[in-house]
Formats: sequence, structure tokens, C-alpha cells
Amino acid sequence: MSDSQMVRVRIAPSPSGYLHVGTARTAIANYLFARHNKGRFLIRIEDTDAARSDPALVQPILDSLNWLGVAWDEDIVYQSARLGVYREYAEAILRRGAGYRCFCSLDLLEKDRREAREQKRPLHYNRRCLKLTPEEIDRKLARGEEYAVRIRIPEGVTTFADMVSGELKRSNDEIEDFVIARSDGSATYNLAVVVDDHDMGITHVIRGNDHITNTFKQLHIYRALDFTAPAFAHIPLLLRPDKRKVSKRLGDKDVGEYRQEGILPEALFNFLSLLGWSPKTNREIYTPHELVEIFTPDNFNVSNAIFDEEKLEAVNREHIAKKTDHELAVMVAPLLVEAGFTTKYWLETRWEYLRSVIRLLRQRVRRITDFVNLGSYFFDFDYSYDPAADEKNFTPEAAELLSDLADRFAGLAAFTAPAAESVLNELAEERGLKRAKLIHPVRLAVSGVPGGPGLFEMMELLTGPVIVERLIKAVEYIKKKPS
Ligand code: GLU
Repeated sequence: MSDSQMVRVRIAPSPSGYLHVGTARTAIANYLFARHNKGRFLIRIEDTDAARSDPALVQPILDSLNWLGVAWDEDIVYQSARLGVYREYAEAILRRGAGYRCFCSLDLLEKDRREAREQKRPLHYNRRCLKLTPEEIDRKLARGEEYAVRIRIPEGVTTFADMVSGELKRSNDEIEDFVIARSDGSATYNLAVVVDDHDMGITHVIRGNDHITNTFKQLHIYRALDFTAPAFAHIPLLLRPDKRKVSKRLGDKDVGEYRQEGILPEALFNFLSLLGWSPKTNREIYTPHELVEIFTPDNFNVSNAIFDEEKLEAVNREHIAKKTDHELAVMVAPLLVEAGFTTKYWLETRWEYLRSVIRLLRQRVRRITDFVNLGSYFFDFDYSYDPAADEKNFTPEAAELLSDLADRFAGLAAFTAPAAESVLNELAEERGLKRAKLIHPVRLAVSGVPGGPGLFEMMELLTGPVIVERLIKAVEYIKKKPS
């Protein structure tokens, strides 16, 4: 493939918020397409709307992309650095006669729209300024009147072959002579996008299907500038389970929040890839590398995709299962420190202990943060008891049993899981009790919670002295309880 045919795609986030899952999904689709075709994936920051964009948001967006493993190939393009370029292209459109100056004031345009609304006509610009004679234009220019530049939409039909939906068509009557440069000389969104995509050598524009209307407009700018238009793929939008579009406003999370909440980057990558795109197999779990191999734009669905967080958790669980205990320990350690259960130093000197905790809990977690939520008692020696379990299991009779067990455990030469289990079984037998009568209060005493990994493995890991101390502490606690 020669360099001029090399696939070049991009995403163009505006820094008006953090990296939204919808934008992340578009980024992944572009990235997979680029990598699969041995092409380039680029980033452009659409930061010309000073009122809406905040330079401080660029870095978090890039951080989230990096975290997801969506790496870009060339220097990032900032639209704010290209204002002069857009101006030149707006002038070129005027010179070529493909656009015209519009001197209408905002008030006048508003009045036009009001009348159109009253008469139930389309709200399109009425082409008043297209009818100006060259003399009238010269007079206005000589008077220093301000003007915007509008593109002139010819009669006819605009069509393009969308890579997802096939041929799309729109009658040009439905496309107004839209403004490409404002009276202050600044470019409007559609002009800037076309100029940038052209100058960046973009071969395929892969973006959300909410941009189809923009594409119909942008095709007229390509024509007006005699640029070759790229191929377009309008991919389905992400919807919430209630079928509304995923949106920050509705409380939907950005990529950074999923990261915070213990989702693995490869899980989010996997999950987002399969939203609106299908490998056409029943398999659901893929590494990013595997997705690069199998990706083809033919398999995009036309209908919008539902972002179901439970599904994401299930995918996350599968990716957690692929990690080694050590890899998980590296991720969990800082979370334990952050939660205040332990210190970096404590963990560094007890790495094997942390790995054993991971080994015990890994079957039960759906998120990395679950290791902290489900296993805090491995690190926190000052926990309280689950109230419902306390009420049910911490009876005076239990106190007596726990006290007896503490003595027997203390007498064990080697506190192993099988040894602890035999001691408990013996006590149950002597007293003619079901094992459960002992197991529930013991679990509550040594962990503070009613459920968890295998009780005896957990006790062995916590070690005999800790278990004895925790049992005695529970006994004292029960004795002090108001009866
Ligand atoms: N800034 C636009 C968006 O985030 C980019 C659209 C495009 O890809 O052209 O939706």
C-alpha cells in the first residue's frame, strides 16, 4: 500500500467534559480500524468554542485514552492553532463563487425565522444576500458593513455511501445555505472539520450517527473546495437501558469514573468494541490485540446499542480472571492504601500475604475495587460487625462457644485450615450442635461480615494469633451487648 493510500482516521473530541463512553467507543472503533489496516490513528482537539471548552480538560481526556490503550500516532492537532487557515479557506470559497457574503444582522435573521415559523415555512435562510448585485456588495463593503460567509447549496440531491448504512440521500432543499465563517472571521464547526480532515489526510471518518446531518453539509464544503471527500462510517449511538442517549447530564459516567470504580481498561475496551459492532461469533471476551486482528467495519450494526453496566461488570470479571495474582495485587495495593486500611510500607513487606488474599477472593469479585470492599478485614483490624448478622448470630450461647474455640485454637501447635476445621467439628460434636451454629458466629467474629471465601482458608491466612484475638474481642463485645 503506498503512503497516499494509507488509512488515516481520527477522533475529534472537544474539551467540554471528560472522556465520555460514547467518545471512547468512537475512539476504539477508529483505533481498531487504523490498526487492522496498518494505518494511522490521530487526535484533533476541537477547542475553538472558548465558552464551552476548557484547556484543563484536554489532559484528562488524553489520560483516559492512554489508560484504555488507545494510542495515537502523530502530534495532536489543536483547532485553536488553525484559525488563520480556516479564514483562508472561507475566502477561497468566496473567490470560487461557491459561497457568498451575507450582511444580514442577527436581528434580521431572527425576524426572518419568526415569520417563517408563523407561516409554517422551513426556517432556512431566505437567500436575501444571494440576490445582492456586485454594486450593492461593493457599497456595503465600502461602508465597512460586517458579513458572514455562507456556502451556496445547489439544486439537487446529496448522496454518499455510508460504510454502515449504505447509500444515504438528502434533497438539497433540506440543506440551507449555512454559514461557514462568522462576521468576526471565525470558522463555524463544519468548515473547520472539513479543512482539518483534509489537511490531516483523513481517509475515513468514523463517528456517531448523530453527525449524519453534518456530513450532508460537509460534503458541500468538500465540493466547494474541490477536495476529495473521505469515506464515512456513521456508527450507532450508545443508549442507556431506558433507551435514552447516554449522557453526562443523566448521570452516565465517563471513562475515568469506570476506572475509579474498578473496571479494567481491557474490559472496557472489549465491552465498548462490541457495542454496535459484532465479531459475528458467540464469543464475547477478546483482548484488544485480538480485536485488532478480527475487526472489520462490515460488522457494524445499524441500530443503536444499549450500554448495560451489568454486562460491563460480567466482561470485567472475565478479564480479572485472566490476570495473575501478582498483577491484581499491583492494582489492589494502592486502593487499600487510599482507603486507609494499610500503608505502602506494610504491604511492601507483606506482598505474599496480599497475593494470598487476592487468591482467596478472586473468584468473587466483579470489579478491582471489590477486593477492597470484600476483603477489608484482611487489613483492617478495627472493623464493626454487620448489624443483621450481629443480631442473629452473636447470642450469649455463641459467646460461650467462641470463647471455648479461642482456647482450643490457642492450643494448636500448627494453625492450619484442616486443623482449625477439625477443632470446630470436634466442638460441634461434643456439644451435639450443627456446624452452622458455630460457623456463622465464627465468620462474623473473624471478618465482621456474614459471607466471604472459605472460612478455614481465610482463618489460616489471617493466622492463629489473629483469629484468637478476634474471637476474644467478639466474646467481649457480645458480653457488653444489652440483652
Ligand atoms: N467534536 C465532534 C464530536 O465530539 C467531532 C465530530 C467528528 O468526528 O467530526 O462529536
